[in-house]
Amino acid sequence: MLHLFFKKLIKSPNMQFTRNLVTDPKYGFLKQLGLSTENPGLYDGRWGGTGKLIESISPTSGQVIAKVRESTPEEAANAISEAQKAWPQWASLPAPARGEIVRQIGDELRKNLKPLGQLVSLEMGKILPESIGEVQEYIDICDYAVGLSRMFAGGIFPSERKDHALLEKWNPLGVVGVISAFNFPVAVYGWNSAIAMVCGNTIIWKGAPSTPLISIATTKIISGVLEKNGIPGSVASLITGGADVGEALVSDKRVSLVSFTGSTKVGKEVGLKVQSRFGKCLLELGGNNALIVAQDANLEMAMRAAVFSCVGTTGQRCTTTRRLILHKSIKTEFLGKLKTAFKSILGRIGDPMEDSVLYGPLHSQQALDAFKKTIKTAEENGGTIEFGGKQIDRPGFYVEPTIISGLSPDAAIVQQETFAPIVYILEFDSVEEAIALNNNVEQGLSSSLFTNNIQNMFKWIGPLGSDCGIVNVNIGTSGAEIGGAFGGEKATGGGRESGSDSWKQYMRRSTVTINHGTDLPLAQGIKFE
Ligand code: NAD
Repeated sequence: MLHLFFKKLIKSPNMQFTRNLVTDPKYGFLKQLGLSTENPGLYDGRWGGTGKLIESISPTSGQVIAKVRESTPEEAANAISEAQKAWPQWASLPAPARGEIVRQIGDELRKNLKPLGQLVSLEMGKILPESIGEVQEYIDICDYAVGLSRMFAGGIFPSERKDHALLEKWNPLGVVGVISAFNFPVAVYGWNSAIAMVCGNTIIWKGAPSTPLISIATTKIISGVLEKNGIPGSVASLITGGADVGEALVSDKRVSLVSFTGSTKVGKEVGLKVQSRFGKCLLELGGNNALIVAQDANLEMAMRAAVFSCVGTTGQRCTTTRRLILHKSIKTEFLGKLKTAFKSILGRIGDPMEDSVLYGPLHSQQALDAFKKTIKTAEENGGTIEFGGKQIDRPGFYVEPTIISGLSPDAAIVQQETFAPIVYILEFDSVEEAIALNNNVEQGLSSSLFTNNIQNMFKWIGPLGSDCGIVNVNIGTSGAEIGGAFGGEKATGGGRESGSDSWKQYMRRSTVTINHGTDLPLAQGIKFE
């Protein structure tokens, strides 16, 4: 009966919801978030777009839940013009005053923590605690950015010249474009926007075309705060759509930095295009993360970490464990226990919006197709399906968490990232061999070693150790904290977001020399008289 309702759409020019989403109290959070049939995205500081209708599909049911009118590339260009116009006002505010606005955004997000989390579960498909955790991450980075707004500092260096001051000053870049992926539809924008805003940039965001409601609800929260403070909404605009709309940000010279989160394939194209116009690029791309369990590891801890890292978010984190590298002596025991744990996960599958559920659907039909194709290829290449491997017989895009053994670490399928809960089992004799296996992929995002041997720990984090951006010991590959810089090396793109000195990516560095004397000495003692 419920599914019949999905067929009827409540119509309005810019946004349409299925009838049950409007009438069923279960979806009351949509109203709380200010999403109504009249509420499309914020383009160039105004609400409304005129592009084609895109569908939001529930991963849980596989049905269309809403349709949203996307912006056109021309509207994206207008949004850039408006962001550029708003920039001088925003950049002229003292940084702590910008921090105060970001503090208010954090407070509004706190008020909307649960409703926005519910919307993430509905539209992206991750389980509610993870969805709420994702909104919490945005709140945390707002707090971080508020502190940062009083702390990001330049420098003073000793000048070799008499009566000269040699300074380093950081200035905002201007307009920052943020293109994000479907799997973290709130947090990734949060990391970028909170830091970019306190640094003095205006932002245009293009979220994933499959999560438009989340992008709109998040932007509404921000624009409400901006408006309350008399600041134009175009300081943080949203454009909705796919590759053509993203392309408008990528190729426009007025966008000083493109922060791109997504697949390595698209990121490479984006990086090359932005570089060709001498723009700045921050790339957060795919991973192929390994978790190594040494002979001397605490196996119980390693097991718990491996389960979450492999199947959390249904294998759709950039940091998901895709290769489990086990010491030969513990391989059989560990694999046996992992299968038992995966089996227990199967008993906790369901609607990600419900409390007891631990494991939700894949995000889309495309993800489901990629899962099936990978299983087929793995089997054709001699892989053994140790566990799972099938679609689950229920509506939506559910698949079994899957373990595959018997493939070469060099097999093309092991070398690539399939964005699904599939883990390959590899084995090793020495820690050096395990490190080499970890590094034996194009990507370089996250990595973990479970060991109680201090020599191995330091080998792992040293110059000949893991070549990834995230190097963990005795914790899993996924679930990073905001305080550190987040990102990866090699085909993961080299970008860093969130904590540490990642703020520098959103600013330009001016090296300033001030002569406060009456002579004009040249550097290196050169005489030109
Ligand atoms: P995707 O590359 O398909 O899309 C990412 C974004 O790019 C979307 O908004 C999409 O509309 C846009 N896009 C597509 N073509 C474009 C083009 N030609 N020009 C400009 N924009 C374009 O990725 P996805 O499937 O949404 O997300 C999954 C991928 O993202 C995985 O590879 C995952 O590892 C990666 N990811 C990485 C991180 C990280 O921090 N390293 C975080 C989350 C996701």
